[in-house]
Amino acid sequence: MSQKSTRDTVYLNGRFYTADSQRSWCDAVLVRDGAFAALGSAEDVRDAAEIGHEVVDLDGRMAMPGIHDGHTHLLFAGLRHTVEAQISPMADGAQVVRDLMASARFGCAGHQGQEVDDQGWLVAGVLDPTPFPEMRPDRAFLDEAFPDRPVMIYDWSMHHLLVNARALELSGIDEESVGPPGGQLVRRDDGRSLSGELVEHATWPVQRALPQYAPEVYRRALTWAVQTCNRYGITSVQEASATAPELRGLAELDGDDELTLHVAAHLVWRDEGIGTASMAELETIIAERDHFRTDHVDTAFVKFFMDGVPLPPHFTACELVDNEPENGKILIPRDELGDALRRFDAAGLKVKIHCAAAGAVRVALDEFEKMRLANGPSGPRHEVAHTTWVSDVDLPRFAALNIGADMSPAVWSDPQFEKILATGYRFATMQDHAVQMTVGTDWAVTATPNLFPALEGMLLRGQESLALSDALQLLTIKGAEAVRRADRRGSVEVGKSADFIVLDRNLFEVPLDQIGATTVLRTVFEGRTVYERPVG
Ligand SMILES: [Zn+2]
Repeated sequence: MSQKSTRDTVYLNGRFYTADSQRSWCDAVLVRDGAFAALGSAEDVRDAAEIGHEVVDLDGRMAMPGIHDGHTHLLFAGLRHTVEAQISPMADGAQVVRDLMASARFGCAGHQGQEVDDQGWLVAGVLDPTPFPEMRPDRAFLDEAFPDRPVMIYDWSMHHLLVNARALELSGIDEESVGPPGGQLVRRDDGRSLSGELVEHATWPVQRALPQYAPEVYRRALTWAVQTCNRYGITSVQEASATAPELRGLAELDGDDELTLHVAAHLVWRDEGIGTASMAELETIIAERDHFRTDHVDTAFVKFFMDGVPLPPHFTACELVDNEPENGKILIPRDELGDALRRFDAAGLKVKIHCAAAGAVRVALDEFEKMRLANGPSGPRHEVAHTTWVSDVDLPRFAALNIGADMSPAVWSDPQFEKILATGYRFATMQDHAVQMTVGTDWAVTATPNLFPALEGMLLRGQESLALSDALQLLTIKGAEAVRRADRRGSVEVGKSADFIVLDRNLFEVPLDQIGATTVLRTVFEGRTVYERPVG
């Protein structure tokens, strides 16, 4: 990939939506050394440019700041699409086996020290429980097809797995094993033998037994993920599950000038499954976070998993029942939670807490409140993630405690989740309560990191709709604020990083129901074009 352009570039004849409240629109920009050096009319900007500057005619298209994705999982998405076996949608047991066989033949493996056609782990996704009797898949069909080879299949959320007998054996799980706190080993009707379904913390031994991939596998996965983000107009992300292999892969990419994204890496705390390391190792990564920082990777961020997911057949999200959180579904012991929050807040680390339902949000806000009382109000603006459902009584607490809400409407605009999430994401209500919101894709839960369908949904939400200009702020400058970089990015302003995108339509001129189909024509990151839609 090319170095930063050393030549001045003028982009003219565009309609730049700047996301800067002082100046909403301009026609032309001058990019110099990766930053915006002038804005205004074509004439103003050309006057400011050096002799011999490059000119790009935008042909009247709308441009806007690059999108900030407040919640993504680059490595999960990259591995899923570049190396792991793909299960067909709505696959029954026979189809799952056919999909696994096809992948095994073509070599999905790639784990360190393994040949493609050996008996190593087969990792696959996504398992949809719907076609199975009572939505309870049983490992029997996997054991028959793969008696010697360990198989692990994850669901949409990565919170639940189905594994075969060989994988259970290698993970040290047998009938005598007891489900850990915050996890469930699903048993068959005999009450004893294991069905192979593992829920929440019961997945940890399997994730830990899985060998690491070779470094080039991580690199390939991340390269693909970064380029895919650029394709959808994303120039900045909050990685919501940063692990050591991912940090090493990102550092390698950045060293080779191929990391065309600003990454705020939320380091996984305590969750040995998602973090694929022991609690002690995860603490060490957080302690040694500066070691993983690069030009485009900021590591002053942490991720907690408070509860599970609102998905069948194991609903592990923590709801409010009679206005009380279901304490049994909280995955972090309260004392550990409070202690860690105070510690990370005092160190200036920003914490994002996964909260799938209103009970978890309540617990998070209670603990944030205690943290502010203990540490004072000047710590970072921490975040509740997903924020799908929030009790009315908790709404004012976000602004009062300076806690942000990372919303995941891209999940909700996905047809398969639409029904379950129909009552979630009250954008207008949150805005009325002055909640500082960001918007994330939660990719790889979604198929692509495309925020335009979610944006359309945010505008066509009945009483909970936002105005287009407000919604675009959440996708741009509010995202930069959330990662403490609003001084350098998030809007088209002189001196800021030249991160912008050119769209195939003007969002302010098309009917709202055509916004979801928007495609990105060009993505510019630090002044260089990192994506251009192929012509034709
Ligand atoms: Zn997530």
